[in-house]
Amino acid sequence: MTPGNEPTFRQSVDLMFNRAVALMDLRPGLEEKIRVCNATYTVRFGVRLRGHIQTFTGYRSVHSEHMEPVKGGIRYAPSVNQDEVEALAALMTYKCALVEAPFGGSKGGLCIDPREYDEHELELITRRFAYELAKRDLINPAQNVPAPDMGTSEREMAWIADQYARMNTTDINARACVTGKPLNAGGISGRVEATGRGVQYALREFFRHPEDVKAAGLSGTLDGKRVIVQGLGNVGYHAAKFLEEEDGAKIVGIIERDGALYNQAGLDVEAVRNWMVKHGGVASYPDASHTAEGAAVLEAECDILIPAALEGVINLKNAHEIKAPLIIEAANGPITAGADDILRERGTVIIPDMYANAGGVTVSYFEWVKNLSHIRFGRMQRRQEEARHELIVRELERLSEHLGDKWSMTPNFKSKYLRGADELELVRSGLDDTMRIAYQSMREIWHGREDVSDLRTAAYIASIEKVAASYRAKGL
Ligand code: NAD
Repeated sequence: MTPGNEPTFRQSVDLMFNRAVALMDLRPGLEEKIRVCNATYTVRFGVRLRGHIQTFTGYRSVHSEHMEPVKGGIRYAPSVNQDEVEALAALMTYKCALVEAPFGGSKGGLCIDPREYDEHELELITRRFAYELAKRDLINPAQNVPAPDMGTSEREMAWIADQYARMNTTDINARACVTGKPLNAGGISGRVEATGRGVQYALREFFRHPEDVKAAGLSGTLDGKRVIVQGLGNVGYHAAKFLEEEDGAKIVGIIERDGALYNQAGLDVEAVRNWMVKHGGVASYPDASHTAEGAAVLEAECDILIPAALEGVINLKNAHEIKAPLIIEAANGPITAGADDILRERGTVIIPDMYANAGGVTVSYFEWVKNLSHIRFGRMQRRQEEARHELIVRELERLSEHLGDKWSMTPNFKSKYLRGADELELVRSGLDDTMRIAYQSMREIWHGREDVSDLRTAAYIASIEKVAASYRAKGL
């Protein structure tokens, strides 16, 4: 492959899929059934804005209905097209299977630059888009459940939920029609940061295995590791912030639309984000050097590279120049199939997108379950758990009374132990568990099979096996 004939995003996903299925023993015909995208709906609709009618084009693609509802975000970007939406829908199928979220794969997109519209206009456009999708059951708690993606956030999800509820006034589960909503509209604690949190948990799990860390030519823990992140949006910001504040990683580079910041001593992620929000970009941020050609910083020296913006950024043109020994794909599809071949040959360890950014859909799953059960997680157990812990602490205190101060509990232990888990703690625990278990399932294949030399192929094999089992159970 040469830079001129780079495959499209969708072809890239299919090439990676093909590489994995070639190592599997699927029943004849099943390979194609799993690979193809079941349906893609294109909607065109008009909204009257600023005195004239503007026509918008949107998509909702359903890749696989081996489980329903199908799940996947809605992206707002001018570059949205059918190929991209189908690639992202396919990745959702494999991602949900890998982390055992009981969904098929879907994705949506609207060709729009959200920065060109004010909030009221965006609400009109989003409600109309939601109307077009909902009336075709492409938004529905039992069939198709969107979530945020690039260019959308909990604000858009709240409008979508409200639009669906207006159209389905007697649906008691209406709130489960979309996830990533704000808390006051049926959301769940910890969803906003879930994808970034998942990236952190994925890296923590990776660093629990010295053998894997060694495979990337690294050693030790996350503490002090030099990190470059591309895209300081929802996913990139949270991942970088948590790694910096909680794991001691050093964020040496941040790449944004208007160039890249670099500081060998480490950047203050919160300060950069605040600067970006205030000034609309990173360019004039004072405590770092700035490079206008941001993508060049993907090639800078670092220990961990986190592409967290968009697809295809590591491709045939720059793959040879990438120095990071470990790449974690926080974005969907940041490495093209051709670049993946090059990096694999050079021994770069890649933690693949379908695993690395699965934190979002995992917590979306929890939100959907919360909406269907109509009760906040922990509401029934929390105080009861505290009461039982109190009993134990009191009894221990009584028993140790005559033993003197040396044997009394530290106040820190006591207050921590006495506190029952709230929703946020339960969400984090469920996410951590999910990320650990999914990593184990990839790892077993990566290390257990002679013919598998990378985590991406292992991830595809683990997830395709699960999709194939679902089809078998359906009698196909
Ligand atoms: P976002 O819109 O919140 O952030 C994207 C960021 O990337 C923005 O800060 C933007 O300015 C920056 N950016 C855009 N083009 C860039 C470029 N050419 N160079 C550098 N920076 C650029 O989006 P997000 O929700 O953080 O999504 C980012 C990626 O993560 C996407 O690939 C998305 O599919 C994936 N993802 C998101 C979620 C989620 O829960 N939001 C879940 C799974 C995967």
